Amino acid sequence: QAKRLGKDGYQLYSLELGESLRARLGLEQDLREALAARQLSLAYQPIFDREGRLVSMEALARWRHARCGWVSPAEFIPLAEASGLIVELGLNAIERLAADLRDWHSQGLVCPPVALNLSSRQCRRPRDRERLLEALARHGLGPQTVEFELTESSVFEDLDQPDSMVALLQSQGYALAIDDFGTGYSSLAYLRRMRCRKLKIDRLFIHGLANSTEGHMLVESVIRVAQAMQMLVVAEGVEERADWQCLVDMGCDLFQGFGLSRPLAPVQLAGLLHSQQQGQRTLIEA
Ligand code: C2E
Ligand code: MG
Ligand code: MG
Ligand code: MG
Repeated sequence: QAKRLGKDGYQLYSLELGESLRARLGLEQDLREALAARQLSLAYQPIFDREGRLVSMEALARWRHARCGWVSPAEFIPLAEASGLIVELGLNAIERLAADLRDWHSQGLVCPPVALNLSSRQCRRPRDRERLLEALARHGLGPQTVEFELTESSVFEDLDQPDSMVALLQSQGYALAIDDFGTGYSSLAYLRRMRCRKLKIDRLFIHGLANSTEGHMLVESVIRVAQAMQMLVVAEGVEERADWQCLVDMGCDLFQGFGLSRPLAPVQLAGLLHSQQQGQRTLIEA
């Protein structure tokens, strides 16, 4: 069943299965093998500032199943988290990112910082945290190159551990963003304690913003709170020009969504970086 359709097939997800069928098909085993064979790739979704400049991008895992085609991350990320494969998946993503960066650099492209998604389950055990940090160091992915996105629930879980990964990454200078803000347990105390660089408002609150007085007030309040804490606000899921305009007027700092750009395959992203470096700007479609 196609979940989303894209011109290039990059967004075509063909699997959305029930629990029992998934078990029968052995998707977990397939994922394990795909990870061992380094078959996961990354798509990159650009993030723009108020002037329409591409200032960062989010790396999103993509898996093309040998028999079933593209599998949605909404399917395989929870599976990876439940099975513990998320640790390998995270290491795969770091490797992939390093390879893509080498490729872009060899073309003379200058890349903005890339945000990797980090689940608390990737850093629960000390050994897993060590492997992650070691992989970043080995591939030369420092704080100028990479940032991390964590959901509220991941952050809470992590901060309660004796060796918090959040604290560790921050001590090494990495910028952190709170992902999908508003869908978890939003606590102002945690927000203050964490001192994250960015706050990403979930697309649930962004879609249809321009037509909702309540939604408007809600998002505006979040922007004020975040800015009072010196955080940059990122709006996720910006699809409509009217919503984008509304966010600009409210003082939102950064924008991400299908209306600006879909997640792109590495070659497409290279094309975009190339045109940006030629001085062309990408603005939201009218
Ligand atoms: P996320 O981190 O919140 O990533 C944003 C998701 O929203 C992506 O879905 C992206 O394609 C989608 N999106 C972006 N703009 C729009 C829009 O305008 N409209 C709509 N409807 N959707 C939009 P994707 O790629 O399917 O990823 C889903 C989730 O899977 C991510 O949510 C993230 O939590 C997780 N994920 C993806 N890659 C990784 C990874 O490498 N590691 C970990 N731990 N999690 C990952
Ligand atoms: Mg994210
Ligand atoms: Mg998100
Ligand atoms: Mg999400």
